[in-house]
Amino acid sequence: MSFKTPSANITFADLNLSEPIMRAVSDAGYTIPTPIQAKAIPQVLSGGDLLAGAQTGTGKTAGFTLPLLHILSNTPVKYPAEKHRPRCLILTPTRELAAQVEESVKIYGKYLKLTSTVIFGGVNINPQTSRLRKPLDILVATPGRLLDHANQHNVDLSGIEILVLDEADRMLDMGFIRDIKKLLAMLPKQRQNLLFSATFSDEIKQLADGLLHNPAFVEVSRRNTATELVEQTVHLVEQALKRDLVSFLIKQNNWQQVLIFTRTKHGANRLADKLIKDGIAAMAIHGNKSQGARTKALAEFKSGQIPVLVATDIAARGLDIDQLPQVVNFELPNVPEDYVHRIGRTGRAGTTGAAISLVDVEEIKFLKNIEKLIKREIPKVAVEGFIPPAKLETESPRLFREQQPNRSRMPKQGQPNQGQSKQKQNKQNQPKRGQTQGRDRNSHANDSSNSKPAIGYGQGKLISPAPTKGKLLSEAARHQAQVQMPLFNPKPPRYRGGGRGH
Ligand code: AMP
Repeated sequence: MSFKTPSANITFADLNLSEPIMRAVSDAGYTIPTPIQAKAIPQVLSGGDLLAGAQTGTGKTAGFTLPLLHILSNTPVKYPAEKHRPRCLILTPTRELAAQVEESVKIYGKYLKLTSTVIFGGVNINPQTSRLRKPLDILVATPGRLLDHANQHNVDLSGIEILVLDEADRMLDMGFIRDIKKLLAMLPKQRQNLLFSATFSDEIKQLADGLLHNPAFVEVSRRNTATELVEQTVHLVEQALKRDLVSFLIKQNNWQQVLIFTRTKHGANRLADKLIKDGIAAMAIHGNKSQGARTKALAEFKSGQIPVLVATDIAARGLDIDQLPQVVNFELPNVPEDYVHRIGRTGRAGTTGAAISLVDVEEIKFLKNIEKLIKREIPKVAVEGFIPPAKLETESPRLFREQQPNRSRMPKQGQPNQGQSKQKQNKQNQPKRGQTQGRDRNSHANDSSNSKPAIGYGQGKLISPAPTKGKLLSEAARHQAQVQMPLFNPKPPRYRGGGRGH
């Protein structure tokens, strides 16, 4: 893979990394450092703290992994081969990212004697405990599960020399701040701290202020900027038509690798089922799938065995799929930053990619917010040749956070509710006919689906409201807040749920 933006003629040879690391870098096929690597590696090697602004896909993992491997392999060990006592801790928000980071540690450190392991929630704790009993240099972890281990004295964090907070903004977004603070209190005062974040909210600044001492600051992309490399388009289409449209687009464009984001786990399953019915190999990943099923789906998608992966935000966060050419937003996220994260799955590491968003009239307000954030209008493009089916499946009324009625004021079954009246109101604001081919044909079909009785709360079909504390939560945070199905090993009951360390 080659990057289109070489960083001011800096080569890996200029970075003074040791020979075994250089060999591993060369084996990985990297010829020039990415901009974040060119900027961050010298800073980390100098031994000081670092605050780095870099989105996923910029090569940031190697940006902190290469120098920390260099430091750890070149400095005398304080507590040789000490079990339970790692020298470096890398915290990540999700299991997938944790697994990927540890894989990178292994790849870049393959000619070194350093040992590493990864621990995250949602899987049986016992094998992790056994791994922590062996001598360990680098520990990659999600905060919740690490705290569980620390509280059970399975791990001793008093020997940490280097701490990395990767995707710190996502960790705060997912509500890990308290766990992180508890973990920080277990670390020795004398250590090197590296904080990587795609965005710099006030909370991140606060965290950085308390954590970092005279940090160097490096940044490779402007705040909240959607990557320039991704070609973004919108198809205006009614919700009830989206599944058929996705199926059509995959076949028409002969997409061989497409990642599709849905807002809900149920929506992910439903779309995957529809595609399979249409003869397209597809799999869904979300928080209700076991870690084994998620890993298998991801491996098959990465290797090209299955061309379509349907995922909720949380499951897809941190996925590193090389040169993913196509992303589809089946629904727009209601938090605009999530859109930037989603399209960051494509156009990674200097390659170009395309992101298509299917936008129903109810989502236009989300589209406007996204366009405001990325400071550009996303072109609305009609789909040539799409003929909507005559008969459409019924859609559940789609309630977004601000539409969710107070349960005490819930309408009786059969009576119109707030969601319905809002839908009617929105219909009047629909984009003009002809913006998407097939709208004309579909307009009455949609009317008929709207005229069907709405599925009430009593039937449990609506998305359950997540605790908000008055704040608009991201998709990731909402999934995190929802009760998770037990994953691998439902026993012992203490570890059921995998809510932490997701
Ligand atoms: P990251 O932002 O760390 O998730 O990295 C994104 C992708 O870039 C990964 O697939 C890396 O393997 C790849 N990558 C990292 N550094 C380089 C480099 N210097 N040259 C080419 N590819 C790279």
